[in-house]
Amino acid sequence: MTDRVTRLRERLEERGGDAFFSVSPADNQYLSGFTGTTSAIIISQTQARFLCDFRYTEQAESQVNGFEVEEVSGHLPTRLGEALTALGVKTAVYAPQALTVAELRDIEAAYASGPCEPDADIVAALRQRKSPGEIETIRRASALAEGVLADLLDQLEAGITERELAARFEYEFKCRGASGASFETIALFGARSSLPHGAPQDTPLREGDTVLLDFGCRLDGYCSDLTRTYAFGTIPGIWFEGTYELVLTAQSMALEAVRPGMRACELDAAARSLIEDAGHGKHFGHGLGHGVGIEVHEGPRLNRESDTLLEPGMVITIEPGIYLPGQGGIRIEDLVAVTEDGCDILSCTAKELRILEG
Ligand code: ZN
Ligand code: ZN
Repeated sequence: MTDRVTRLRERLEERGGDAFFSVSPADNQYLSGFTGTTSAIIISQTQARFLCDFRYTEQAESQVNGFEVEEVSGHLPTRLGEALTALGVKTAVYAPQALTVAELRDIEAAYASGPCEPDADIVAALRQRKSPGEIETIRRASALAEGVLADLLDQLEAGITERELAARFEYEFKCRGASGASFETIALFGARSSLPHGAPQDTPLREGDTVLLDFGCRLDGYCSDLTRTYAFGTIPGIWFEGTYELVLTAQSMALEAVRPGMRACELDAAARSLIEDAGHGKHFGHGLGHGVGIEVHEGPRLNRESDTLLEPGMVITIEPGIYLPGQGGIRIEDLVAVTEDGCDILSCTAKELRILEG
């Protein structure tokens, strides 16, 4: 944690600014080790302050390293603004994506000594490049979630609803040591699988359904994310096999293309061009992937517009999909860490077309 604070101070020095402040649970976890939901931190070149209320003081004293922990009462943004003033901070830098307009207004109302300045990269640029320890935690999170997938597929029976299957994932995550799901589990059957981020409903599983499962757990503060698509009992229709092979080939091409130094949009194109050439460009309407870490969606973004350069240590998903309204959708998603010469695939679940036994 102290190394992370040191790197943040270097960025602060480079860009200019007396202090950084944050009320973001994810950024505060990254910088201080605190896993609670309500806290504020201030980092200047000489100070590292951690503010929380009575509910979190004991937890903060055991988790937070390298910060002076202070218990405050009342409205936390106001106390934060007052603390910036008391420290004589002239320019206070914050990550705008991690602060609400209301919080900023309340901080500014109590911060008399200078302006607040947004900097979207101040923590995100540090967070997106993971340490070997962070990568191993994400690998363990993925292994836990994939173990749940393997067991639930073995028990899958016709009649189970999307909602019940999603609930079983989340129950098993916790039973096996995760703190929970890293996002609401997506379990979609049949034609509903064409909804890229559909919410599970009471739809029962039937023979000949497409089964699209997108799930992940949170373990020791880090997220996993994986998608697999199956057929249940028999092939869903003539569209299925060819479309599956196309998505799988596009996904494999992207995995092979991953290199540090390439732009995220180039990696997106490595999968997208094949899907476009097959006439399915308009059926692949989302980006190729995203960074994963303390949050399930974080930097870097992988899409047509992202010019972020890939760096060793980035953990990203590669998840092309084709969605045919009224018929069904196929998405295949793996979690990978960018290495010095390619990538290390953190997920292990097989991807060959599989017809689940009904
Ligand atoms: Zn996913
Ligand atoms: Zn994803």
